[in-house]
Amino acid sequence: MGSLDAVARIIEKSNKILMTTHVNPDGDAVGSLLGLGLALVNSGKDVMMVTAAPIPAVYQYLPGSELLQLPSMLSTREFEAGVVLDCTDLSRIGGDLPELLNGAGSVVNIDHHISNTHFGDVNAVDPKAAATGEIVLDLLLLMGIPVTPDIATNLYTALITDTGSFRHQNTTARCHRTAAVLLEYGADHVLVHNCLYEQRTLSSLMLLKAGLETLSLSKDGRIAWMAISYEDILSSGCNMEDCEGIIDYPKSLRGVEVGILFKEVKPGEIKVSFRSKQYLDVNRLAASFGGGGHERAAGCTVKGNLADAVAMIVRTTEEHLRLAMNNGGVS
Ligand code: 5GP
Ligand code: MN
Ligand code: MN
Repeated sequence: MGSLDAVARIIEKSNKILMTTHVNPDGDAVGSLLGLGLALVNSGKDVMMVTAAPIPAVYQYLPGSELLQLPSMLSTREFEAGVVLDCTDLSRIGGDLPELLNGAGSVVNIDHHISNTHFGDVNAVDPKAAATGEIVLDLLLLMGIPVTPDIATNLYTALITDTGSFRHQNTTARCHRTAAVLLEYGADHVLVHNCLYEQRTLSSLMLLKAGLETLSLSKDGRIAWMAISYEDILSSGCNMEDCEGIIDYPKSLRGVEVGILFKEVKPGEIKVSFRSKQYLDVNRLAASFGGGGHERAAGCTVKGNLADAVAMIVRTTEEHLRLAMNNGGVS
């Protein structure tokens, strides 16, 4: 990919580099940030890996996570280059990081979201990649930077989380090849599985229980949703990370095409996750509410009362679904 050559050139000629990713980072966001960050540290670069808020506890096993900084910890505000990973647009970075990036010499945008706005001076955006971590591996191989076991474990985490352990529709032969290469480089897949999937808190299961009480189905059985109120989150003692994976439940129902999870993250602010199985373009659906993502997994945030948001978004989903079906299942 030509743009990867351009990315490599910018990184090669820059020393002081700011690296970051999207708010509420997932495994691809943190794994790609640390995977590339560790590689550049090993190449002698003065790299600062920054997230707008502390990363979710579940990703603290990732090698190098102790190197992550918050914007307030930065010793400088001048950078020769900024690298943004797994992020559709600058507004999704959070904190004052967009301003810091504006001041950086060049901004490199490495991502795989179809809704990416190409905000960088150089954009390596590959919507065919299942995870940003896949693009990072290609970049390291292109630049001839050794992939250590720690780097491989980070990139493997990126791949596992964005493909749902190779279950989602974005899983390709390339994903499995990438995984094979990462295992050859020493990715610790047992550690990754254990830390991601065998360490649930009791409170997160109690929240899932409360969420399942709200499980609802559209009349035609094609849309299923759950709505978790701020009250449920507070009373379970959970934080946002404990909601990870809950969206899989409404989607998993037989006959359902679209699963939706509504989470009232603050009173009056609702984070919505969309997942589709076969034909609804949920990136387009989320974009109609100012969000984005991928064809089969997307999200947005809306303001207002939880019940009103549910009614309005389910209605819009029904309309999108009807149109998609009128188009022969292709939206
Ligand atoms: P999730 O539902 O797990 O939060 O997100 C699913 C996918 O949609 C992820 O790739 C995520 O980056 C993207 N996404 C979620 N919320 C938003 C949003 O508000 N805006 C944009 N542009 N993308 C989002
Ligand atoms: Mn992500
Ligand atoms: Mn991703």
